[in-house]
Amino acid sequence: MFKDPHCDICQGIHSDIDDYHVIYENDVIIAVLEKHSVTTGHTLIIPKEHSQGLFSLYPETMDSLMYVMRRVAVALENEFEPEGFSIFHTTSTFIQWTDHTHVHLIPRYEDDSIGLSLHTKELSNTELKQIKERLSEWLESTV
Ligand SMILES: [Zn+2]
Repeated sequence: MFKDPHCDICQGIHSDIDDYHVIYENDVIIAVLEKHSVTTGHTLIIPKEHSQGLFSLYPETMDSLMYVMRRVAVALENEFEPEGFSIFHTTSTFIQWTDHTHVHLIPRYEDDSIGLSLHTKELSNTELKQIKERLSEWLESTV
């Protein structure tokens, strides 16, 4: 299992530091409560092996991550009865403090104060067709 010696998450999850409040783990994935919690039950789902984003995971690691996330979500539903969930994941240290893959599983409650502002632009059919053609061609020409 690859551990980056310069990665805080690698160092944290492979030691006995009490700062990590582990609620579940298997050989591949660890689920810890987020110390800087957005809502009650905010959990980080983290592959134990160092990787840089979901898209760099081995397929079996991705499967395990989704399995653990589902298990934790069911536990949160049973224990805290949220109205639903938001799931956040970002790649690149440009917008976050670590490049170690992690997914935020955030239970949503009726009175939470989470606000997410996405500035959208309505695309024309011509623009959509151009984007579709580029992506479809690439997807069909690769394995
Ligand atoms: Zn790491």
